[in-house]
Amino acid sequence: MFDKILIANRGEIALRVIRAAREMGVQTVAVHSTADTDAMHVRMADESVCVGPPPGSDSYLHIPSIIAAAEVTGAQAIHPGYGFLSENAAFVQIVEDHGITFIGPTAEHIRVMGDKITAKDTMKALGVPCVPGSDGGVPDLAAAKKIGEEFGYPVIIKATAGGGGRGMKVAKSEKDMANAFQTARAEAKAAFGNDEVYIEKYLTTPRHIEIQVFGDGKGRAVHLGERDCSLQRRHQKVFEEAPGPCITAEERARIGKICADAVAKINYAGAGTIEFLYEKGEFYFIEMNTRLQVEHPVTEAIFGVDLVREQIRVASGLPMSFEQDDLTINGHSIEVRLNAEKLPEFAPRPGKITAFHAPGGLGVRMDSALYDGYVIPPYYDSLIGKLIVHGRDRDEALARLNRALGELIIDGVENTVPLFSALLQEPAIHSGDYNIHWLEHWLELGK
Ligand code: ADP
Repeated sequence: MFDKILIANRGEIALRVIRAAREMGVQTVAVHSTADTDAMHVRMADESVCVGPPPGSDSYLHIPSIIAAAEVTGAQAIHPGYGFLSENAAFVQIVEDHGITFIGPTAEHIRVMGDKITAKDTMKALGVPCVPGSDGGVPDLAAAKKIGEEFGYPVIIKATAGGGGRGMKVAKSEKDMANAFQTARAEAKAAFGNDEVYIEKYLTTPRHIEIQVFGDGKGRAVHLGERDCSLQRRHQKVFEEAPGPCITAEERARIGKICADAVAKINYAGAGTIEFLYEKGEFYFIEMNTRLQVEHPVTEAIFGVDLVREQIRVASGLPMSFEQDDLTINGHSIEVRLNAEKLPEFAPRPGKITAFHAPGGLGVRMDSALYDGYVIPPYYDSLIGKLIVHGRDRDEALARLNRALGELIIDGVENTVPLFSALLQEPAIHSGDYNIHWLEHWLELGK
């Protein structure tokens, strides 16, 4: 096992990794920008190193400073959290070149899955069901129109380098195609410096279902069931749960095995998520994320495992501590994302937290780096915490969520707590009967 690891991240996820490491007896090094000198991850880690000025590109994304911090502190491994450098293949290569272990998959796996066309080709070859669409990149408008005709409208044009819901445009009919195609390309070029796009059949009423996988890098892998993340705003998740309210045990076993076998075959190491759209009983692969996800705690809650501990174990060369047969589901878990944002426009609201009280009690977990008097800096994303509840069944989890939201106090900055309190009044949330468009429609109605 490592003696010391560095966490190349901030906020709640940095705390999450520090907590796992401390329970394992592993020392931790926090890195921080000058805007985060007073941040909780800096206070909680055993050591800390300032890696640059506030902008992410000069600090948390600045590879030479992160490597230097690992070297001066003698950290043997780097955990990237999510976001920032977590899916940067070049970073992984540089880390390994310096004789430091990257806690995650290989640079090659990150590269393959980071390009959505290559990812889809790879998954298809491994027997994973995909959304019907173009065979790779679509070079021009004429080719795009041909695909539209072949698969039938509506279709969605997506950037191969895409992420965070950018570079995606829907064409409802042929007359939308020219505009959608060109806009998607321009957005992709601006956001990712790569204007290659591909086209998929646009599914009109799917749910977002993702399978958690975990591999040992040596050909063994398991799945930890699904998460349903269908409640989305602008393709961003806001409310996640496990198990999925509409997935049967047979479906879980079938798609789970396909995913576990696929990642076993490529010797995948560590945590990964295979994302699907699910419609009328069919799963359609959309992308794979080669990192720990924001919503991983709902999976931890129902399986009773610590995914970060497992990541650190496997990276250090130890075997996984569970096999497929050890993994059984216990109850139901829900996570809501608390963002410092003003409703209804979801405008970021940095500023000073004048009072903070975390809810507690049976089945309540609060992953947050907030504290009384903390000043949320304006430079980073607006996620300030995650409230995760666990109950014996979905109804109990929903009741617990309602109770915990009532106990939570976050004063000083506007945040998304009222959104969840309002959602819990909705019959659709209780019946679980919604698809990926439901939240956007609901928000429109409330305006
Ligand atoms: P990103 O990497 O930018 O998040 P994804 O490929 O994961 O992009 O897609 C994000 C979201 O966009 C999905 O959860 C879904 O809401 C929507 N989406 C993507 N592909 C399709 C499709 N073929 N049909 C319908 N919706 C889609």
